[in-house]
Amino acid sequence: MKLVFERSVPGRGQDIFSPCDVPVSLPSVPLRAEEPKLPEISENELVRHYTKLAKRAHGVNDGFYPLGSCTMKHNPKINERVAALPGFTNVHPLQPAETVTGCTEVLDTLEDYLCEITGMDAITFQPAAGAQGEFTGLLLIKSYHHDRGDDQRNEIIIPDSAHGTNPASATMAGYKTIVTKSNEDGMIDLEDLKSKLSDKTAGLMLTNPNTVGIFDTNIFEITRLVHEAGGLCYYDGANLKAVIGLVRPGDIGFDVIHLNLHKTFSTPHGGGGPGSGPVGCKDFLKEFMPGLRVREVEGKPVYTRAPKSYGNMTGFYGNFLVNVRALAYIAFNGREGIPMLAKNAVLNANYMMEKLKDIYPMAYNRTCMHEFVMGLGKFEKENHVSALDIAKALLDFGIHPPTMYFPLIVDEALMIEPTETECKEVLDEAIEAFRKIYETMLAAPSQVVQSPVSTPVRRLDEVKAAREPVLRYTFE
Ligand SMILES: *Cc1c(COP(=O)(O)O)cnc(C)c1O
Repeated sequence: MKLVFERSVPGRGQDIFSPCDVPVSLPSVPLRAEEPKLPEISENELVRHYTKLAKRAHGVNDGFYPLGSCTMKHNPKINERVAALPGFTNVHPLQPAETVTGCTEVLDTLEDYLCEITGMDAITFQPAAGAQGEFTGLLLIKSYHHDRGDDQRNEIIIPDSAHGTNPASATMAGYKTIVTKSNEDGMIDLEDLKSKLSDKTAGLMLTNPNTVGIFDTNIFEITRLVHEAGGLCYYDGANLKAVIGLVRPGDIGFDVIHLNLHKTFSTPHGGGGPGSGPVGCKDFLKEFMPGLRVREVEGKPVYTRAPKSYGNMTGFYGNFLVNVRALAYIAFNGREGIPMLAKNAVLNANYMMEKLKDIYPMAYNRTCMHEFVMGLGKFEKENHVSALDIAKALLDFGIHPPTMYFPLIVDEALMIEPTETECKEVLDEAIEAFRKIYETMLAAPSQVVQSPVSTPVRRLDEVKAAREPVLRYTFE
């Protein structure tokens, strides 16, 4: 397919504005020496170009997208309508507080709702993604220990099943990562955890259900042990969808959490954003919160900062419109609807797992939460077909591949998250596709290894794509 620059013809598509007929007066600011090299193309061709590009990609609007740990679900279109209202889009964050009370009410209401859902006492909307939420939360933990003169606490304990962003955020926050082992049920090994706790423990980072799709039933014991050692407990809320409305992190011992609004609370994502990773904390950590918030002082709204705030994570209030979508989503589902999200997400994952486990080896033989993990080491050894090959074969059925080779503790892992928004018919079609691929693997394994055959491009050099991305057009 030609690039938009290669379709460019000098002078084409330039006649939208008539030539300027008033004297040009520019202030003495630095101006570029040359005109920018923009593609010159008619509107018609431009629309076709981007439509063609969109057709070559796979999104939630094209078909099933069971990418584990990502919650690639359908997001209600009404939330887009709400987020596009001019009262939310035609504002500036530097406007006086009394002129944006509608927007601050959105944030206040959403804060109340999210506190109620998570069992926290305060929320900051600054972080623009889950990973930045982790960093924000860890800095809260750091501020707390520092304030108590407990600076020798320089270790964060993270299970070996954790999402890669957890150790990365801990390192960025200046902590040493201590890995604690999972047992054969995919839960934290309590004896191993005990051996890692000490007066150097600043905290524990955990997602529950974890990244193998299992709810750690020892959670009360785990958070008690960490607190007894003087550490705090951080909840990575990326997997909240599995328990939302049923379990509150604040009730099972967590002090700090982040949520991925773009996974759990509506906002289309993937391909880089926008996201929102608000951080919630218990009362005793509120005084360290980053950013400004609007509070009423003597009957007037004013911007205020927490007394021992450690600064800012982003400008202003993070990605405001993602928060608007989340509020619309919560209001739309309501108190009765929210627990149904969790129940349907868990039901859909268990339905698919049950219908496939006679032929696909599952990493853990127990009820899963919102996602399940296959361990396909046996296929690799006996049939010379890898998890990657199965994932690629799904593309020929119009299905986006599941998450591959994650979590790292499972050999030849495929992690499948159907999400709560898929109906039974779609799940049945996906189950059928998996079963057909299995039969092909037995009859003609090379066919699976050569897939996909129906996509615009087949197997790509993913390492080269990541290491040497070509992001600029070089003009001759
Ligand atoms: C997605 C995810 C994150 C990171 O969130 P981003 O918004 O992508 O930065 C962290 N932890 C878990 C378990 C996740 O699934």
